[in-house]
Parts: sequence; C-alpha cells; structure tokens
Amino acid sequence: MAKRENRTFHCNRCGRYHTEYEMDNFEGNFFHDFSAYFGYGSPYDDCFFEFTLCELCMFEIAKDFKHTPMILDKDPFAPPDEQVVPFDYNEFQRRRTEPTPYYKNLFIENYNDIENLPKK
Ligand SMILES: [Zn+2]
Repeated sequence: MAKRENRTFHCNRCGRYHTEYEMDNFEGNFFHDFSAYFGYGSPYDDCFFEFTLCELCMFEIAKDFKHTPMILDKDPFAPPDEQVVPFDYNEFQRRRTEPTPYYKNLFIENYNDIENLPKK
C-alpha cells in the first residue's frame, strides 16, 4: 500500500497553517496558490512570484479591488445566469455566518475551522 504524503498549507498573509494527515476534513481546500510570472523589463524577469492565501485573507484583499473579480462556477449543473458572477464580499460574509437550507451550518463550521487554525 502506498504511503500517503502529508501536505501542509500555509497562508503567507496571516500565517494560518494546516497539515493534512488524512482526508478527514476540507481545510486544505481553503488555501489557494497564486503564481505571477515576470517578463522582460522587470528586474525579476523570468522569475515567478508565488504565494498561498487562506480564503479569509483572499476575500479580505479582493474586497478592496477597484474592479470586482468574477467567480466562475465550473459546475455543469449551475444555471447559466449563475456561471459567472461578480464576487460580492457581503454575500461571502452572509454565507460565512448564516445557515442555508441545503448546506445548513457547513460553511459556518468550515470558516470557523479556518479562522481557528494556528498561526506561525
Ligand atoms: Zn490568511
């Protein structure tokens, strides 16, 4: 039987981290990797700028954007008018704090778990 590799997720902004020992929760899904490539003319030509943000930090940053980023829903069953929607910070806060009929408290509990992760 193959030995499973443990993965560690670490937010560069706030320091929250999570080590995934088993697939017993979804916390790793709340960390997002970013990579920017520098081109000719930049002092960092041909380099990559890479970092990871937890979802809480990512949305905190996105709420200050002058031009609202879009959320693309890749779910093939998503209604056509919901496949591309502008990010709405208030909607995020609502999903994070209010139960929904289908998911009940899932999002609230997941975001609480992320909020309570240790930092280093
Ligand atoms: Zn963070």
